[in-house]
Amino acid sequence: MIKILNYINGELIEPINGKYFDNVQSYNGEIYAQIPDSDERDVQEAVISAQHAFSFWSTLSAEKRFHWLMKLANAIQQNFEAYAEAETRDNGKPLTLSRKVDIPRSISNIEFFASAIQHFSSESHFMENSGTVNYTLRRPIGVVGCISPWNLPLYLFTWKIAPALATGNCVVAKPSEITPYTAFLLSKSCIEIGFPRGVLNIIHGYGNRAGQSIVAHKSVKAISFTGGTTTGKHIASTIAPMFKKYSLELGGKNPNIIFADCNWDKMMQTTIRSSFANQGQICLCGSRILVEASVYERFKKEFVERTQKLKIGNPFHEDTDVGAIVSEQHFNKILSCIETAKQEGGNVLLGGERALVNGCEQGFYIQPTIIENLPQHCKTNMEEIFGPVVTLQKFETKEEAIQLANAVDYGLSATVWTENIQTYKHISQRLEAGIVWVNTWLYRDLRTPFGGVKASGVGREGGWEAMRFFTEAKNICVD
Ligand code: NDP
Repeated sequence: MIKILNYINGELIEPINGKYFDNVQSYNGEIYAQIPDSDERDVQEAVISAQHAFSFWSTLSAEKRFHWLMKLANAIQQNFEAYAEAETRDNGKPLTLSRKVDIPRSISNIEFFASAIQHFSSESHFMENSGTVNYTLRRPIGVVGCISPWNLPLYLFTWKIAPALATGNCVVAKPSEITPYTAFLLSKSCIEIGFPRGVLNIIHGYGNRAGQSIVAHKSVKAISFTGGTTTGKHIASTIAPMFKKYSLELGGKNPNIIFADCNWDKMMQTTIRSSFANQGQICLCGSRILVEASVYERFKKEFVERTQKLKIGNPFHEDTDVGAIVSEQHFNKILSCIETAKQEGGNVLLGGERALVNGCEQGFYIQPTIIENLPQHCKTNMEEIFGPVVTLQKFETKEEAIQLANAVDYGLSATVWTENIQTYKHISQRLEAGIVWVNTWLYRDLRTPFGGVKASGVGREGGWEAMRFFTEAKNICVD
């Protein structure tokens, strides 16, 4: 049995209360690790260690921080396979996906922000009337908290800690308690390369105890959070009155809008991915598929046929397309959402049930599920399910497509499929979303702003947005 440990002041240590809980590998239901049930005392230790490291790390040259981060990225690269296998074991996602997406992207996150700090600069403004010059300093904030979810564990963990560290902050971070293993491996990599003590601290445990203690700690000056909208609301209510900086990347209920004039094959192939990749557990998945009425029947038939061919299986097998749901609790939540859809009058065209996988009978698998015949304003079409479940809706006009797309509280991303330049120009401007893909999905240039509007969050990550978030601007005016 593996024992996960907290990483504080450069060392792996037990939680102060000595308590642990089980880590279950969802692909076969077996317990394989023990996770520290950390509380505010462990967080306090981590904050003290980060405070001590701050004067050293924040004054280190950008070039030296670049070198440390590159060493860390390299350490992941050196243990690539171990990281990929750990991600699949913890999360249930196909190993092919961990190898192709999660681990490579974690490495690029660190490399990207290592390089960014060497190019980051601030502004100066000359006032012609008075001859005074304003220059703006961008200084690290201090100790910052980074909290990430379970769907893309190391990918989103590094997406936060890399810019925080690059800009000279010291970090207290918490991965999801459901998928802590690759963050634990990262702490081992830090020790291996002799990463400076206290600069990065990783606390494991439940969100409402360990996570909440980070959020509420008065010496943690900024919080970067990715997770559900309800948790985000709770976090905002704790930290807004404390005047902390915060960035909240929250849930989505993204429309995938398909016009009759699109490149059909490309749209079909991509829509299969944007619906079911990572078992539909990507905040950017298009869970509401809106199809122009003239091609609705054709789409429905082909989409069901193609989805039927996806292979649900042991995520360690090379030919598996759809792996396990991350946990029993989330598995039950998705199945109950499918029940709700049926009660709301939804017609289940495909799936809708648990899937049984040979040799993994205790694992948590759900068949890719396609549902039609539901109005926009029902629970199924309004609330995030975050699983391999999509609904189909028809629209007659562009206006109707926009209305349906914008009818939810969320506004993370949207996808539009059309070959008509006027259509996509018009629609993409009016969609209430932080990210719009046209004739593609999930391409991410790390320099671009990332984040949502409405209930999908506050603030932006990516590129200079992240560098600005993790620094405090101070203007100095000189005569
Ligand atoms: P949660 O909101 O449940 O948890 C996210 C993280 O917050 C976890 O580490 C969790 O810990 C922690 N947490 C929970 N409660 C608190 C608290 N009171 N104070 C501090 N931390 C807390 O989300 P999930 O992990 O279930 O992730 C799925 C959600 O994330 C979906 O809604 C999805 O849309 C969203 N998401 C958004 C993305 C975006 O970029 N907009 C990207 C990816 C996912 P623990 O798990 O240990 O309880």
